[in-house]
Amino acid sequence: MSSPTDNKHQFRASTRLIHAGYDPHEYHGFVNPPVVHASTVLFPDAATMRRRDHSYLYGLRGTPTTDALEAALDDLEGSAGTILVPSGLAAISIPLLAFLSHGDHCLVIDSVYGPTRHFCDTLLTRMGVEVEYFDPAIGAGLKDLMRDTTRVVFLEAPGSNTFEMIDIRVMADIARAGNAVSMIDNTWATPLFLRPLDFGVDLSIHALTKYPGGHSDIMLGSVSATAATYTRLREAQMQIGINAAPDDAYLAIRGLKTMEVRLRAHERAALRLAHWLEGHSGVARVLHPALPSFPGHGLWKRQFKGASGLFSFVLDGGGNREADAFLDALRIFGLGYSWGGFESLALQVDLSDRLFAKAPTEGPVIRLQVGLENVDDLQEDLEAGFAAISAIG
Ligand SMILES: *Cc1c(COP(=O)(O)O)cnc(C)c1O
Repeated sequence: MSSPTDNKHQFRASTRLIHAGYDPHEYHGFVNPPVVHASTVLFPDAATMRRRDHSYLYGLRGTPTTDALEAALDDLEGSAGTILVPSGLAAISIPLLAFLSHGDHCLVIDSVYGPTRHFCDTLLTRMGVEVEYFDPAIGAGLKDLMRDTTRVVFLEAPGSNTFEMIDIRVMADIARAGNAVSMIDNTWATPLFLRPLDFGVDLSIHALTKYPGGHSDIMLGSVSATAATYTRLREAQMQIGINAAPDDAYLAIRGLKTMEVRLRAHERAALRLAHWLEGHSGVARVLHPALPSFPGHGLWKRQFKGASGLFSFVLDGGGNREADAFLDALRIFGLGYSWGGFESLALQVDLSDRLFAKAPTEGPVIRLQVGLENVDDLQEDLEAGFAAISAIG
């Protein structure tokens, strides 16, 4: 029997999101894949075992559940192969370990996710890799930083917490011309809003913890690769010995089915609040790529198909005391890390580790993850935050 994805390229992304990765008729017609908990897989005879000629070999190497998620992500990203790992951070560290050796040079965008920088500054540096950060505004100037030993160019767009935009194709082309592997942390956009491999990037990295999971109840990561990079990436994953747990992979598959509907709702509510904040007297600037006032807006528009529900704004004056007053007055926005779930979250951003993409000077930077609550309620919640700042006097 034919599955709706047999000829999947005729379908649009919204349809592929629903049907990609798994054919119900391969498992009795059940519309969801089985959750396979496994270590041992039995072989029918010794010769088969010797040849390793079997669809599955061992739980660590994958199961029908992890296969279904990997196949769905390959379809969405346009990649040749995807690996799953137990967190978004592991989806950053594993490819860096896969493609870097002692003596290599690694270029990392300065607006990178904080724990990525921490990994680079500690374990990678201890391994003897020379890590160099570059200004997200460098553009074609990246070429001048390339060396004979540059093996990896690590990107993130938009930048973590401050949302700087880059020309992805220009940077991917510079990396490829220099025989370096380009990697991008694509968590903010999800494959629905950005397909980095279409822009010449080799590896697209996701914290599936965020929008694909969507319910703040799993930790999971993925790396989707070109044909030229996939084998080495998969080897590193197996050398290190990690994969995704079946229940988490299943929840990510489940989350993908509603991801576009949720993302569009996050996008709409976040944009409404961003526009409102832009006109608020307590706000110096709003850092949201879909706002025409944002410096990277043109780059965003040219490359991305949408904006998710995470953005920041800069308070007009004040310091930690004002930021704390604002955050403590919020009743709906919770104070917590991570994002991409159903619930709204707020926090004050720490940008003290930046070398080039420095913290705004007007006041504290507040990051919002806009959830799926009523947007009028969310606006009133933020208004209470501004009132608490005014009450300090
Ligand atoms: C959260 C996040 C990660 C890490 O994901 P975890 O699953 O929390 O380890 C990586 N990159 C970005 C941009 C993130 O926001």
